Amino acid sequence: MLGSTSWLVPGTWLTNARLVQGLVDYQELFVTSWDAGTRLILEQELPGLMSLDLQYSVHLPYPDPAQAWDAMQFFESNAFPVLSYVLHPVPGWRAFHWNNRVALENLKDVIEPYPRTVFDVGHHLLGQRVPDTYRASTVEVHAMGVHGGNDHLPLDGEAVKVILPWVTDATLITFEVFDYDALLTSLRVWEGRHAG
Ligand SMILES: [Zn+2]
Repeated sequence: MLGSTSWLVPGTWLTNARLVQGLVDYQELFVTSWDAGTRLILEQELPGLMSLDLQYSVHLPYPDPAQAWDAMQFFESNAFPVLSYVLHPVPGWRAFHWNNRVALENLKDVIEPYPRTVFDVGHHLLGQRVPDTYRASTVEVHAMGVHGGNDHLPLDGEAVKVILPWVTDATLITFEVFDYDALLTSLRVWEGRHAG
C-alpha cells in the first residue's frame, strides 16, 4: 500500500487527508506533540478522517515513550482504525505493553530489532546502515530522495534501487515528503520503477 505524510500543504490532518484521498491508500498522521491542543483538534477531526476513503497509520516520534503510549491509547479508545503506530527507539520505550500494530523505526544512530520494523531510507543512507537481516521484520518503508546530506527530497531512481529489496507486496510505503508536488513526483517515480 502507498501512503503520504499528513503535512503536504498548510492545514490540519483533515485538510491534508482530503487532498490525498484517491491518490494514496493511507495517510501517516504525524502527531508531533501530545498536548491538550493536539488532542482537541484530533477529537474534532477523527470522524471526518474516518469518513474518507483512506486508511491511516500514526507516527509518534516523541523522546518520552509515555507520551507515545498516551497518544496510542487515545486512538484506541476512539476506535480509530490504525494500520501501524510508528515509534522511535527512545530510552525506556520497551517498558510499555504495546499492541501488535506498533512498528519501530530505525534512526540514524539507533537501530533496534523488533518483530515489526520500519526502514527509513534517509536514516539508512545518512546514518548507520540497517543490516539486511532486518528485511524479514520490515513492515513499512519511509521512501524519499536523499542527496547532499539531505533527506525528505522527492523520491528518485537512486533511492528506489536502495528501497526495492526492502519491499514486498505487504509493505506499507510512506512517501516521507512534506510538499504536495514532491508527493506527486515520488508517486510517479515509484509507479515507473519497473521501466528502464
Ligand atoms: Zn521516517
